[in-house]
Amino acid sequence: MSERTSPERQRRNRTAPDTENEDEGEKTRSESVTPLLRIEDLRKHYVDKQGVAEWVLSKDPGRVRAVDGVSFEVDRGETVGIVGESGCGKSTLARTILGLHEPTDGYIEFAGKDVHEQIASDRKRFARRAQIVFQDPSSCLDPRMTLREIVREPLDIHQVGAKAHRNEKVTELVERVGLSTDQLERYAHEFSGGQRQRIGIARALALDPELIVLDEPTSALDVSVQAQILNLLSELQEEFNLTYLFISHDLSVIRYLCDRVVVMYLGQVAETGPVDAVFERPAHPYTKILLESVPGARNRIGEEAIKSDIPSPRNPPRGCRFHTRCPVVLPPSKYGMEFEQDAWQGIFEYKLRLRSGRLGRERATELAELTDNDGNEETTAKEAVRDSCSIPRVLSDSTAEELLDQSLSALVDGDSEMALKIMNADFESPCEQERPAVVDIDIDTDHRAACLRASDEEGEQ
Ligand code: SF4
Repeated sequence: MSERTSPERQRRNRTAPDTENEDEGEKTRSESVTPLLRIEDLRKHYVDKQGVAEWVLSKDPGRVRAVDGVSFEVDRGETVGIVGESGCGKSTLARTILGLHEPTDGYIEFAGKDVHEQIASDRKRFARRAQIVFQDPSSCLDPRMTLREIVREPLDIHQVGAKAHRNEKVTELVERVGLSTDQLERYAHEFSGGQRQRIGIARALALDPELIVLDEPTSALDVSVQAQILNLLSELQEEFNLTYLFISHDLSVIRYLCDRVVVMYLGQVAETGPVDAVFERPAHPYTKILLESVPGARNRIGEEAIKSDIPSPRNPPRGCRFHTRCPVVLPPSKYGMEFEQDAWQGIFEYKLRLRSGRLGRERATELAELTDNDGNEETTAKEAVRDSCSIPRVLSDSTAEELLDQSLSALVDGDSEMALKIMNADFESPCEQERPAVVDIDIDTDHRAACLRASDEEGEQ
């Protein structure tokens, strides 16, 4: 992991409080110069138990690689957004950081110390320092408890002060999050969605945490209520010197609230950097699509704009995980970068369809039947497949043309396996072979991306 410090981070670090180490009774370097949270090569894999019988009988039940080698830092007082489609691993990441899931591998450091060790030695103490606000507050608010009891519960569990002090603190918190003390004896179901989220925030604040993980805190709320909650979170951060890890798939919310953003794709980091840099100059094709697919406000992730569904984290694509959906996947190096880009994207689409089983002789025949061409059957089918994948009728590279034609002939002859074998042997993209490293896009702002195209550009500088 990089040891560099951006100007923004330097500013934050200079203003960070130099707090006492309560354990050793001595002042540590860590509080003032290290990030509050440091994640290094974190992995969380779990066994996919799709039905007990299937799982018991299977020799290889499969492992879901929900989080697979994630590294980033969060400085004190900062808000870092984690954004990505459903299933990209962002919520698993948050829960693993908080110790709600055991990590498979990697390192999590909080305030200069190993989180695993902190939890092992005193889980309750760690829980006081790092809290979570969930997407659906109703699911974590006990319907049998009143507002007063819900907010006071963490104080009771951690035995903070005398009862009178706890009640006083509850009153302060309830008022601070915009609720009325007249409502203290009401039950959760008597509140609106926005009010319930305010209760969740008050409860998270009760123990004076340093870090709050906000897991899609506004996604279940109406737009006008969302704005109120975001403003409240912003005020509270300032007032209590809080650090936020903000999980969301809403890009406009990320832009509004966050200092930096981590874009996740299939359990890995695609791009990270200051929000303005990533939104104005996205470097990863995935980030570009997310931003471009949403007109104007660039808000919710336009999942429909990305070709095909997100692959399963149970069996993620090798190399760059985005290669099955990337619109600028690299051509095989043997054909050179000047290989016609449009033609190459079509060829790669043909290969992906073969690989997924979406294209076989039957489908080729169906496509041929949709054309007006009543010439040679094999030629018609091959042309229909080319057209459906937007491959020109003739490639300018004669070797590539010959090999592609061999694959198409095998396909229409009913030998899909051979068709794919030819494509795998002769049209393999570097993006399928190599996992891209996270490289610097702008060293001054700590803007980084994991794309081979970015690596190439960096190498050329
Ligand atoms: S490495 Fe290749 S597939 Fe991955 S994002 Fe970059 S160009 Fe696309």
